[in-house]
Amino acid sequence: MDNEMVIGVDLGGTHMRTALVDGTGSILRRQKTATSISLGVRQTTQRLIAECRAEMDAAEEFGGTVIGIGLGVAGKVDHKRGWVVFSPNLPAMRDYPLGPELENSLGLPVLLENDTNVFGIGENWVGAGREIHNWVGLTLGTGVGGCLILDGKLWNGDNLGFVGEIGHMIVHPEGPRCTCGLNGCLEAHASGRALLEFVNDAASRGWLTSGPLYELWNDGKLNAQGIYRCSLAGDPTAQKAFARMGWALGLALANLFTVLGIRSVILGGGVSAGWDQFIEPLGRSLAEHSSMLVVEDAVIQRSALGDDAALLGAARLALQYYSLPSL
Ligand SMILES: [Zn+2]
Repeated sequence: MDNEMVIGVDLGGTHMRTALVDGTGSILRRQKTATSISLGVRQTTQRLIAECRAEMDAAEEFGGTVIGIGLGVAGKVDHKRGWVVFSPNLPAMRDYPLGPELENSLGLPVLLENDTNVFGIGENWVGAGREIHNWVGLTLGTGVGGCLILDGKLWNGDNLGFVGEIGHMIVHPEGPRCTCGLNGCLEAHASGRALLEFVNDAASRGWLTSGPLYELWNDGKLNAQGIYRCSLAGDPTAQKAFARMGWALGLALANLFTVLGIRSVILGGGVSAGWDQFIEPLGRSLAEHSSMLVVEDAVIQRSALGDDAALLGAARLALQYYSLPSL
């Protein structure tokens, strides 16, 4: 068992990242390359196969052998067949047999999972969740991803191809439109896109007319990081955008904690770096919307693994293939 290794893959719309991981959760080698989906699905698949071959060669140099590949991808996946059903970041991969393509080329088992679920598996294995039995995972990025770790394991629900979609929990039915087509989802309040839309809306209504935030908007250079910097510098519109985000997160967590009888959350994703701008309103909203929970008992943590969480979670998935009879 000592020299058995796995490959973890985080397949995003912009980059594909691969890592060679040993059985203890140590990353021995990691690579990042452009996904280049615009060149076509076949080209992307060939590139991914080449990256995996490079990891397999590296495993030999470490005196090990790769026994499987785990792969995290945004969107809906069919675990049993190893197909990407639909990925918002990779629309060209709709109903695409990515797992079987890799298996045929590399001769290794390939396990596919939603990207936020692999974040949860990774943090649960060697990250912030390793000593917590029950917790909610939220990844705050362009959108909001969610997962549930219950009884120490990823909750899979009825295996419908979606689970833990906390980003699409409705927190305000009259609220802003979400990418899913409904109104008032958590994602429409607490994502990078939601921050941008809040500022866009304020500027186009004439409520934001000067200052660094206005300049960013006017120059077409607005992004979540810029809004964060302006909030830190005291811009009231940027602060309101983050306050709304914290309010929505606190409301969603209050509901989840009350329903599940749990008290822990782990926040990841790039926008969670703006933690200091939303954590206070989050705490206030959690307190305001909780009737059963002793709010002081709530455990709100940031990801311990950062970008590595998805890679390690994907790797863990491949290791579990050999240890769990249910898979
Ligand atoms: Zn939605």
